[in-house]
Amino acid sequence: MKSPRSSALFSEARKLIPGGVNSPVRAFRGVGGEPFFVERATGSHIWDADGRELIDYVGTWGPAILGHAPRVVIDAITSAAAKGVSFGIPHALEVEMARTICEWVPSIEKVRMVNSGTEATMSCVRLARGFTGRGKIVKFTGCYHGHVDSLLVKAGSGALTHGTPDSAGVPAELAALTITLRYNDPDALRAVFAAQGNEIAAVIVESVPANAGLYFPEPGFYELMRKLCAEHESLIIFDEVMTGFRLARGGYQQLCGLKPDLTALGKVIGGGLPVGAFGGRREIMDQLSPDGPVYQAGTLSGNPLALSAGLAQLRELERLDGWAKLDALGAEFEERTRAGLKRAGRDYNFRRIGSMFCLYFTSASTPIRNLEEAMLSDKAAFAKFFHGCLERGVYFAPSQFEAGFLSLAHTSEDIARTADIAAEVLGKI
Ligand SMILES: *Cc1c(COP(=O)(O)O)cnc(C)c1O
Repeated sequence: MKSPRSSALFSEARKLIPGGVNSPVRAFRGVGGEPFFVERATGSHIWDADGRELIDYVGTWGPAILGHAPRVVIDAITSAAAKGVSFGIPHALEVEMARTICEWVPSIEKVRMVNSGTEATMSCVRLARGFTGRGKIVKFTGCYHGHVDSLLVKAGSGALTHGTPDSAGVPAELAALTITLRYNDPDALRAVFAAQGNEIAAVIVESVPANAGLYFPEPGFYELMRKLCAEHESLIIFDEVMTGFRLARGGYQQLCGLKPDLTALGKVIGGGLPVGAFGGRREIMDQLSPDGPVYQAGTLSGNPLALSAGLAQLRELERLDGWAKLDALGAEFEERTRAGLKRAGRDYNFRRIGSMFCLYFTSASTPIRNLEEAMLSDKAAFAKFFHGCLERGVYFAPSQFEAGFLSLAHTSEDIARTADIAAEVLGKI
């Protein structure tokens, strides 16, 4: 596939930006080849720098739940900008956003705005440590919580091994405070609490793990986590950066019934602008500066453009009964995809919840409950699938381990066309 403008831009970018990208997964390293450059995007479609039109299932990695460049968001940003693009002074939109979040997500009694999902989880970790006076954090392999030092840690061998950093630049002394467990492993969770429960500040978990493909909590797993954390006075940090306002008005916690102590939000909440938020129980949130001793701040936090975009997107979702519609679109997508798999004679493992999905290149009868099982997917087959679809006008995330997203702008025509293309490509793998 010839993409002269994208290629020229990318070779220039590589001289000036590490890897040519401002976030690593954009570099196509998981699938090979070079990324394309985007020219513009509206609704469910994007146009690349060489004029090709693509049906998009990445949706700017989650935020574009109404599709790209929705009218309501553009109007909100435009009218907010006319009054000033940043104040650093309290303004009414902050109160309105806080009220909306606390109303929609009942476990959140107080909330603070930040500028990314990473900032939200980072602040939750510091707050949990400050509130409990403890240092250790439990996380699960395969769960991604942004590029926070303490959270860029995966398992050593054995449930009780101290963490080793995933990234250069994370001190081993800090990583040692992160205990990494296998997701959906109740025995490991029990063992770690039995051994060091009174040192654990918090367990942080992706509400629905969707950064290693897509898999789901087994029945009873979150109930056990709730029970152990309550017994040991440790906190649960529910990372709903991806699922918040996507799977339901109140996030995945509304669907699964878990009441976390702290919740991290991002992506959909910003309408495409850089926004994150974290909130939870009042007594915990009251530990934050200036009321309490845990410092947290931000020059641009609560930015009026960002909040106007986010609020416009949230209100539109509610007005349209967006979550029910997204679930229906998801069901249609699933039905078409499964039919396509059948036509192509392929028995790959398709996963979906609401408007999030993933196709693992492993047999549908193989259970996928954690990172270790997700890794069994045939990544070379995925790379062929990805490039075959891209050449034919369908853009999925350039990694086996990213979820795909539907938006309210996707049409039945998009979905039918995608399934036809996917079936054609799958037939050739
Ligand atoms: C994307 C993501 C983050 C990080 O958010 P950024 O805005 O990229 O910093 C954290 N947690 C989860 C579950 C995510 O999907």
